[in-house]
Amino acid sequence: MQVVTTFEELCESRNEFTVPFGLVPTMGFLHEGHLSLVRRARGECASVGVSIFVNPTQFRPDEDLDDYPRNLDDDIACLESEGVDLVWVPAVEELYPPGAPTWVEVEDLTQHLEGARRPGHFRGVTTVVAKLFNAFQPHRAYFGQKDAQQAVVIHRVAEDLRYPMKVVVCPTVRESDGLAMSSRNSYLSSEERVAAGVLHRALSSAADDYDAGERQAESLRAHMLEVLASEPLARTQYVSVADPETLEELNGKITNTLLSMAVFFGDIRLIDNIILGRASWTA
Ligand code: AMP
Repeated sequence: MQVVTTFEELCESRNEFTVPFGLVPTMGFLHEGHLSLVRRARGECASVGVSIFVNPTQFRPDEDLDDYPRNLDDDIACLESEGVDLVWVPAVEELYPPGAPTWVEVEDLTQHLEGARRPGHFRGVTTVVAKLFNAFQPHRAYFGQKDAQQAVVIHRVAEDLRYPMKVVVCPTVRESDGLAMSSRNSYLSSEERVAAGVLHRALSSAADDYDAGERQAESLRAHMLEVLASEPLARTQYVSVADPETLEELNGKITNTLLSMAVFFGDIRLIDNIILGRASWTA
């Protein structure tokens, strides 16, 4: 496995690998969720590259950039044992040369859900992902459904900028109580960690209603809020019943739907989602 830091080294190494080439972008502190993307890429591509980069432009000033968990040595050992071919660990200046004010921005889709609560976040995500796509020139790039809006927005970038590649969205990997794996889970106290299972319980309750024939957006939303309210340590920021393609909030009768939420436990903000019916971008 080659581990490189500069853009020039990356370009040289990339050309040595057999195609198709699969890319898994990450911010490091790897867990089984990340590794599920690596394994999917390994199964579908002749060579696999992983980027480890905590992207400063997707954090707002009041967010946890400085405290974001990092463990590069463990990440590299882990990727080596997964049979990854190339790892890029760029410095910030490598992706953001001083005085380079070029941004990639998706309108509409980024106004909802996470984008509404974290203004500017997706501009950082789409800019860095476009730079990673340009640098690696992958044939396939792998993302998690855990970050559903990110997956939808990146699909849009790849399509609109005509990247000759496929964006693959992989299922959310969960702990045994249903909590979606996340680097931020490591910051939960033991009480908060137990309480955090409520996100999945809330989503599952709404999914059970849907399976039993419930189709009213208001009723699904109310049930999720009720389950979240039963957990004293959970502070709900939002609960959404949205169109999985446009991400617009739905009212009345629904068919295909993205259920999503953001919930605080102390200062730690967790997100999760499930799809009821189908979404074109998970196909
Ligand atoms: P991050 O390091 O948090 O930026 O995540 C890198 C990639 O891993 C993103 O595409 C995430 O959606 C994906 N990911 C994170 N957590 C999970 C999970 N629990 N299951 C599946 N994919 C995940």
